[in-house]
Amino acid sequence: MNLILLGPPGAGKGTQAKILQDRYGVAQISTGDMLRAEVKAGTEIGLKAKSVMDAGGLVSDEIIIAMLANRIAQPDCVRGFILDGFPRTVPQASALDDMLGGKGLHLDAVIELRVDDAALTERIAGRFTCAKCGAGYHDSFHPTAVAGVCDKCGSTEFIRRADDKRETVAARLKAYHTQTAPILPHYAGLGRLRTVDGMADMAEVTRHLTEVLDHV
Ligand code: ADP
Ligand code: ADP
Ligand code: ZN
Repeated sequence: MNLILLGPPGAGKGTQAKILQDRYGVAQISTGDMLRAEVKAGTEIGLKAKSVMDAGGLVSDEIIIAMLANRIAQPDCVRGFILDGFPRTVPQASALDDMLGGKGLHLDAVIELRVDDAALTERIAGRFTCAKCGAGYHDSFHPTAVAGVCDKCGSTEFIRRADDKRETVAARLKAYHTQTAPILPHYAGLGRLRTVDGMADMAEVTRHLTEVLDHV
C-alpha cells in the first residue's frame, strides 16, 4: 500500500503514520525526520536545510526530491510506504508521479487530515518526543503516563523541536496554505483524494483512516 498523508504542520500526520505503519506493515517516510537527522549529523544537506527550517520555510525541491527518490528505493519500502510531509509543493508532486510511474507503482490513497489553524498552533506548542525512541507526545492531549518517563522505552530524555516555537509556526502555516495546499486539486483530479477530520481525538482519527484504507 502506497499512501500520502497530507496536512498542515501539527495535523497529526506523524502520530497517525506511526500507528498505520505497524498496522499495515509499510514504511513511514517523514522528510522532516530525515532532514532533522541530516542537520544533527552536520551533512551538506543538513547545513543547507537548517536555516530554512529554522525560519519555517520549505527546503528546495531539488534536495527533497533527490532525498525521497533514494529513500523509496530502500528495501523496507517493498511492501509500500506512507509519505508524511512529502510532497509539499506542486513540483514535488509531479516528481513523485514520475518516480512511481518509472517503477510501475501507484498511489492507493492520498488522505488530507483537516485541522483548523488555531488548533494547530496549540498542538505544535505542546509537542515533544522521546529522545531515544522517537515516540510522540503532547503536554495536554497526550502526556506520558508517568511524568518525565517515555511510555514506550522508559527513557527520561525528551526533545522539543526548535521550529515549534510560536513565532515560527505562523510562517510554517503560511507555507502550507500558499505552497502545499495547491497540490490538493491535483490529487482530487486523479480521483485519489480523501479527507479525514483531523480535529477529532487521536483514536477517532485512526478509526476513520483505517476505514478508508481497508477499502482501497
Ligand atoms: P510538521 O510535522 O510540523 O509538518 P515536518 O517535520 O514535516 O513538519 O517538517 C519540518 C520542516 O522540514 C519544514 O518546516 C520544512 O522546512 C522541512 N521539510 C520537511 N519536508 C519537506 C518537504 N517535503 N519539502 C520542503 N521542506 C520540507
Ligand atoms: P504532524 O506530524 O502533522 O506535524 P504530529 O503527529 O506531530 O503532527 O502531532 C502534533 C502534536 O499534536 C503532537 O504533540 C501530538 O501528540 C498531538 N496530536 C496528534 N493528533 C492529535 C489529535 N487528534 N488530537 C489532539 N492532539 C493530537
Ligand atoms: Zn521512548
